[in-house]
Amino acid sequence: MPLKPVSHQDNLEGQRSVIRWRYQQTFTPYAHTFRRLLQTHHGEWAVREGIIVQLQDPWGRMGWGEIAPLPWFGSETLEQALAFCRQLSNPVPVDSILVIPDHLPCCQFGWGSAWESLTRSVRNIPQGFRHCGLLPAGRAALQIWPSLWQQGYRTFKWKIGVGDGEQDCLAALLEALPPTARLRLDANGGLTLAEAEAWLNLNDQRIEYLEQPLPTHRLSEMMGLARQFKIPLALDESVATVAQLQDCLAQGWPGIVILKPSIAGYPWKLRQLCQTQPLDIVVSSVFETAVGRQACLNLAQEIANPHRAQGFGVDLYLS
Ligand SMILES: [Mg+2]
Repeated sequence: MPLKPVSHQDNLEGQRSVIRWRYQQTFTPYAHTFRRLLQTHHGEWAVREGIIVQLQDPWGRMGWGEIAPLPWFGSETLEQALAFCRQLSNPVPVDSILVIPDHLPCCQFGWGSAWESLTRSVRNIPQGFRHCGLLPAGRAALQIWPSLWQQGYRTFKWKIGVGDGEQDCLAALLEALPPTARLRLDANGGLTLAEAEAWLNLNDQRIEYLEQPLPTHRLSEMMGLARQFKIPLALDESVATVAQLQDCLAQGWPGIVILKPSIAGYPWKLRQLCQTQPLDIVVSSVFETAVGRQACLNLAQEIANPHRAQGFGVDLYLS
């Protein structure tokens, strides 16, 4: 029998009413090598490691989730996530799933989305989302963008703060890109204030936004840049978890936020916060498998700005 849609309040009621339930659980680590090395200001990344988790309810129904850590964004490590999973009893009482501590946000998301998939009606992935195609850093972007364009991508992301000569490379990229293309610049917090200003002084309407120019602790300077320049700013590393997003909003962040649900914590907490604030949200990948991606896109359907491309165009890196 299909489950009826439930509101957040219903969800909380549900949490209370099923508190005595126990679920059979399994967790399976995986390691997937990227098709090409991913280069960002945080360094080089070759292998995505994570954990697929599964819950089976008393009626035999299965729910899946994915734990996909990103420690350089402040999440737990794979080892910490595995240590948490290993200490869970089997069967596991539902309250062990609902009270995972906040320093394990990827475990909260993985086990939380597995539990939600059993207790909350899940909509299908919308066909209408456009995605942003992630280009390789540096001059390789000039060779790669046409194939992504042919695949249908019209919005691209290019990592900056990685190497030398990037402004010249950007000029060549903008020269080559069609007038209808959109380009996002992602610094991963790796710029100085002067460098950020130089990028923001560029005058090309195809630049959709500059993402996380400065490190997370320099929010007030990024707020100053957001007020000062025409190119919009987006926060990413600064809003990695629900608590960080709350903090940035409390300080008056006026711009776009890039949310990576896989590292943000419990999906219902992110949903509740985003649905009670007028936010301009792009939902983005942490290179999850199809399991985590589906959970993220289901959430994106409820919280993302549908007029922007979402950040799951990572075909270049995942097979
Ligand atoms: Mg980013």
